[in-house]
Amino acid sequence: MVASGALLNATPEVAERLCPCSAMQTELHVLESCPLTQAISTRYDFTSWSQILSNDTQFPVAEIVYNVLSCFD
Ligand SMILES: [Zn+2]
Repeated sequence: MVASGALLNATPEVAERLCPCSAMQTELHVLESCPLTQAISTRYDFTSWSQILSNDTQFPVAEIVYNVLSCFD
C-alpha cells in the first residue's frame, strides 16, 4: 500500500516538471537549452546562465528572466 501510494503521488509530480518541449523542465533547461526560449538567448546573445551572472553590466538579468518565464504562461 505504501509503495502504490508513493507511485501515485510521484506520477503527477513528474508530469508537472515536464517542459512543453518534452524535456525535464529545470531552471537551467529553460535558460540554456529549451527550444521554446532559444529566441531569447539569441536576442540577448548568451549561451549559459553563468555567462549572464558573470557580467551583470552587459545583461539585463531581470528582463531576461521575465521574458523566459513569459514563454511558459
Ligand atoms: Zn523545454
